[in-house]
Parts: sequence; C-alpha cells; structure tokens
Amino acid sequence: LVRRMRPFGTTIFAEMSALAVRTGAVNLGQGFPDTDGPAEMLAAAVDALRGGQNQYPPGPGIPVLRTAIADHQRRFWGLDYDPDGEVLVTAGATEAVAAAILGLAEPGDEVVCFEPYYDSYAASIALAGAVRRPVTLRPGADGRYAFDPAELRAAFGPRTRLVLLNSPHNPTGKVFDADELALIAELCQEYDAYAVTDEVYEHLVFTDAGGPHLPLAGLPGMRARTLRISSAGKTFSCTGWKIGWASGPAALVAATLRVKQFLTFVNGAPLQPAVAVALALPDSYYDGFRADLQVRRDLLSAGLADAGFGVLTPQGTYFVTADISPLGGQDGVEFCRRLPERCGVVAVPTQVFYDRTEAGRRLVRFAFCKRPEVLTEAVSRLRGL
Ligand code: PMP
Ligand code: GLN
Repeated sequence: LVRRMRPFGTTIFAEMSALAVRTGAVNLGQGFPDTDGPAEMLAAAVDALRGGQNQYPPGPGIPVLRTAIADHQRRFWGLDYDPDGEVLVTAGATEAVAAAILGLAEPGDEVVCFEPYYDSYAASIALAGAVRRPVTLRPGADGRYAFDPAELRAAFGPRTRLVLLNSPHNPTGKVFDADELALIAELCQEYDAYAVTDEVYEHLVFTDAGGPHLPLAGLPGMRARTLRISSAGKTFSCTGWKIGWASGPAALVAATLRVKQFLTFVNGAPLQPAVAVALALPDSYYDGFRADLQVRRDLLSAGLADAGFGVLTPQGTYFVTADISPLGGQDGVEFCRRLPERCGVVAVPTQVFYDRTEAGRRLVRFAFCKRPEVLTEAVSRLRGL
C-alpha cells in the first residue's frame, strides 16, 4: 500500500455498520434512509432499464439530467449554469470531491477544510499529495458549532489552493450563515483560492433552527471560483445509486472531468433519467421530505436528552451530535464500540473526523433518517443506559 494511504484504515461507516449487523443493534451510525425515494423516480429507472438505456452514457452525463440539474439550481438557488460545459454528472458527491481535488490541487498545495470533516475529504486530499489545513468547529454555549474567524484567517496562506466547504455540515448539522460565508468568500478572493462546496444536504435545513441554506457560489465574486457539488443520494433517498454532480465555471468543471473520465468514465445510465425526473418534482416533495426529517430529528433529540446525552440540536442534515460526558463517557470511540452490547444501538464517534482529536473526543453522532418506529425503538433502548 502506498505511503500516502497508510494512515487510512477501514472507514468508520463500514466498521460501525458491520458491528450493527453482527450484534443485531439498531443502526443509527451510517447515514442512509430505511425507506425508498419518490415512486416517480423509481418508476423512471425501471422504464429506462427496460427501455434499453443500459450502455455507456455520455461522459459528462446524459443531456436530460444535466439540464434538470441546471434547472434545479436556478429554481432553488437562483444560480445559472449552462448544462453544456458547466454541469458534470459523477459517481456520487464522493467522486466529484475526489476528482475536483485531484484536478485542481498540485502536490504540496494546501486545502482549507472545517473539522470534523466527512472522511473521504482527508483521503482525497492525501491522494492528490496536497496538505489539509483544518479549522475546528466547536460547540458554543448556544449549542451551535462555530469556528474562530482568526483561526480561519490563519489557515490561509501562499500555498492555499482551495477551500473545501460542506454546508449543511456532516456530522455537526451546522448550517453556515451569511456572515461566516462572507468571510470564507473574502479569504478565497484575497488568496486567489477556489472553493469546492459539498451541498448534499441542501434540502435539509430545518425551518425552526437555521438557514436558509446559502450556496457559497451565490456570494459576490464566488461563482467564478466555486465548484458546487451535490447528489441525489440524500435528497431522493437513493444513497446506493451514486449519482452526484458538480457545477461551476467551465474551467473548473473541465478540470474535474479530466480526472473523472479516468476514475469511472461514466455513471449509471438508467439511473440518470430517473434522477432528472426526481429533480423536477414539485415543491411539495421537497417540503414534505424536510418536514418528515424535522419530526424525526425532534423524536431522536428528545430521546437522547431523556437518556442523559448533551444534545446539540442540528440546524440541518439528518444527523444529531451529542456529548457523552453527562453519561460519564470519556471517549466516543470506546463509547460507540460498547454501545451495541450495552443497549443495542450503533452510533458513530465524531472524533475520527478531526485532526485535533481532543475537540471531538466526547462527541458521538446519531443518524435520524430512519422510520419513526425504528427511532422510537432506539430511544427506548437508549433509556436503559
Ligand atoms: N458528502 C457528505 C457531507 C456526505 O455526508 C456524504 C454522505 N453520503 C457524501 C458526501 C457522499 O455522497 P455520495 O453518496 O453522493 O457520494
Ligand atoms: N454520508 C453517510 C454518513 O455520513 C454515509 C457515508 C458512507 O457510508 N461513506 O454516514
């Protein structure tokens, strides 16, 4: 195994899902829904399969999907992208992030990111031979995660090539606000850096807690230097399809495509027209999706608080983080490894998503993208802690 990959073991998601299967625990670790996405989307995939759309689609994605992606961004975020050259279909957001970093960062270039970060970020940065410059998100007295603006400023320097921003943010559930985004935008411009934004939870911002979701690309001066990434997996509950996309100025999209063509070449032909159907669903779908998740967030958050956790209510995503110290927990990794035998529930320790492990040592993450009866069962088990 090459040196640059040696620090990376099996992902925590694989480890914790295997633990859940082995112990029969309720799996609130890995974030995937336990119900299918919209029926119209599933039917369109079946039609495409039966209709013979089973060979290599065009490299950047089928035109129908690229157009639907552009329409969706205009409709929800007022962002204009040309489906021809400014939109690229990828194997999930994961491939888009990896191909963007590999296509934009030279060895030794620095990538500013916020920790805790989604685990593929560190590996993608390492594969590019680039260096990550993490800025730490910490829970404040108001229960929200925030960063120190001075720390962000200090993370930028002459080697900064890009900022990798995930908002709404996994695992904290943080939604970056206008002031925070303005500072990121200012620093990108001051240091002539690109932004790669992972917005897979763009439709999961809870109306009572935060938001609205603001794409960084919409801030003055940022469209020209931002590659915006999202995915069907979260919004349409089809994480196994791995259809994602990147949008941005033609030069950034072309750099990403140059890499992507040799990673996967193309993706899921019959799934692409189906995702196009889903993107065009009426607002009632998106509103219903968010409202459902908000009810589940409240169900799980209340249950965790009852069980004694220090709950950090998320503003977005389908994850809630919680402090284990009120329960006497000292270390999230140890806590999560023992949780299945103690009460039959699986969670994910968030410290594995930090470089400064200490900042997340006592934090664990629970996913609430599960049926209410599953969450109710988990909550009743956790009460036994
Ligand atoms: N980014 C974030 C922040 C995520 O939580 C996930 C989880 N699935 C991904 C990217 C990966 O998305 P995809 O499955 O579309 O590759
Ligand atoms: N995005 C999901 C999570 O954060 C699943 C990630 C994965 O399995 N790679 O839990």
